[in-house]
Amino acid sequence: MGKPYFPIESLYRMPWTMPDNGITWLEPTSQCNLNCYGCYRKNIKDSHKSIEQIKHELDFFQSQRKSDCISIAGGDPLVYPNIIELVKEIKSRGLKPIINTNGIALTKQLLHELKKAGVFGFTFHIDSKQGRGREEKWRNKNEVELNELRLYYAEMLAAEGGIACSFNSTIYSDTLQYVPELVDWAQKHIDIVDTMVFILFRYITPNTPFDFYIGDSKIVWTDIHYHSEYEEIVDLKSPMIVEKIREKFPDFTPSAFLNGTHKADDYKWLLSERIGNRDKIFGYTGKKFMELVMISYHFMFDKYLSYASPKTLRMGRSTMFLLSVFDKGVRKALKNYLKYLVVNPLRFFKRAHLQSILIIQPPDLMPNGDQSMCDGCPDITYWKDKDGKEKLVWSCRLEEPMKYGDFLRMVPKREKGTEKEKENVLHYNYNNLAD
Ligand code: SF4
Repeated sequence: MGKPYFPIESLYRMPWTMPDNGITWLEPTSQCNLNCYGCYRKNIKDSHKSIEQIKHELDFFQSQRKSDCISIAGGDPLVYPNIIELVKEIKSRGLKPIINTNGIALTKQLLHELKKAGVFGFTFHIDSKQGRGREEKWRNKNEVELNELRLYYAEMLAAEGGIACSFNSTIYSDTLQYVPELVDWAQKHIDIVDTMVFILFRYITPNTPFDFYIGDSKIVWTDIHYHSEYEEIVDLKSPMIVEKIREKFPDFTPSAFLNGTHKADDYKWLLSERIGNRDKIFGYTGKKFMELVMISYHFMFDKYLSYASPKTLRMGRSTMFLLSVFDKGVRKALKNYLKYLVVNPLRFFKRAHLQSILIIQPPDLMPNGDQSMCDGCPDITYWKDKDGKEKLVWSCRLEEPMKYGDFLRMVPKREKGTEKEKENVLHYNYNNLAD
């Protein structure tokens, strides 16, 4: 990609590891009320886990890993019948419950009950390839037109008060063009939108250079849940998103990252933290700010921060005044803020907010068939293998052990398969495996 847009030394490597991490991922159900293209999980009706099973998974998480929050995902967790009890259970364990949902099942009443149960935040997944066709209003809308829907949820949460509000979208090659406008929209609502997440699309496509195996048995690639019937771009990288955002926000600067397990300069999680208000972005925090936040939070609470409360994120002004001595980026933001005040001192009465922009670059296939995963994966989840051994596994690839009993091995293709190879091709039928 030519010269790097942000050298690795300008970034703080998030201190998240397998046993000590900001986040852990819990899936109470695989059932969903949408069938989004690009989803990593097969939608399975009535796949709700019992609350006892969930408590067991939480016990297992807590025996293996310190965590600040639990991302409650799925499927859609709002179709899980015991969601209130689940949120209460997580909260009672001193963890922050974050609900990852498409929002469809969220009513004001349910939101109110979830708040009482202790929900800390929501991450709404909204993008144009979710097949929201059942609702006429959202049919065939592009990313920017869907901002109206995003705003509906952001305002709903703001009216309830005190709940962190994030949005994530899967980004495809043809929706990349909308990213700067989404970042712009987030600024216009910086007082009620805490985080925007862009997840880069990954699927297996017909021209894949790999064969897929479980043990020595070859798998028909079209049976793998995350495959596409046609050729499309599946290797967008985080720096491309940064470059795109810079078309509208030339100063846009990431400050922290998680590397790939196979490549130090793969920006698998690339985090930017900006300070501003609806009128103006004053600046972007630097790596020292991120380090200070992570280390001091860990010192105080013995775990790494993942989600901050809306109350904390409203403290943009104090952040600039108090932390500018430690961090170049914050210092620059403070200078811009002071210039902004000089023009009109009454602007002092406008709050400044912190807002996160996160880019996630899921698994990358290495030429030898290895997969470069996020090193210090925050979205790790529970799996019990066929021998009854409990493990922490990547949620983005959970479909593999769910369907085949293990993770797939990828082997660079030979020109012609031998007869033996052809015999080995197993054609898994999902319904049989679900038995
Ligand atoms: S490895 Fe997969 S599950 Fe873990 S953070 Fe990366 S994309 Fe998410």
